[in-house]
Amino acid sequence: KNFEDYRLSEEITRALAVLKYDQPTEVQKEVIPKALEKQDLVVKSQTGSGKTASFAIPISEMMDWEEKKPQTLILTPTRELAVQVREDVTNIGRFKRIKAMAVYGKEPFSKQKDELKQKTHVVVGTPGRTMDHIERGTLELDKIKFLIIDEADEMLNMGFIDEVESIIKELPENRVTMVFSATLPKDVENLCHQYMKDPIHIEI
Ligand code: AMP
Repeated sequence: KNFEDYRLSEEITRALAVLKYDQPTEVQKEVIPKALEKQDLVVKSQTGSGKTASFAIPISEMMDWEEKKPQTLILTPTRELAVQVREDVTNIGRFKRIKAMAVYGKEPFSKQKDELKQKTHVVVGTPGRTMDHIERGTLELDKIKFLIIDEADEMLNMGFIDEVESIIKELPENRVTMVFSATLPKDVENLCHQYMKDPIHIEI
């Protein structure tokens, strides 16, 4: 399998060339075609496998540029990962002018609030601050079509289960959910079972 097999748009293909992503990694070969078919996925894979691009590529491909409200929500356990994922989405979506922003604690709420008023396709957030924005009405979720939970095991280890569940309950039911995790402990499996639609399990 090659990136050409996925019939990605010219804009995304060009970005992959600039990034020098010549061949999809193993996890990308599994995830990209299924994500483009809007399948719910539970993906067991390690950092360094190219997992971020495995969701960033299909998500960027499927964003409707015209829509002003966020269409994808990506939850990460830490600010550092949120910033990294935002950067990867921005790079992959560069020629499509995909706007991704990160929301996390320890940065002024008001700055993020102003940014959220602009057109934003992808929001990458840590659970606490994301919930804050939802509760205060500064993050609108009615156009969300994709939910990605990255490093789900870490997220639950850090005690974010309640926030993650509260956020999921606010999202439109008609959405695609993808969970990425290095390990699949019981609590991650339970979360997937409760909030996903017949997910396909991928193990790399
Ligand atoms: P990740 O597992 O998402 O942390 O990615 C690990 C590293 O692999 C990052 O530096 C990516 O930029 C890089 N990468 C992701 N996909 C590819 C690819 N298809 N070809 C080459 N490098 C890649």
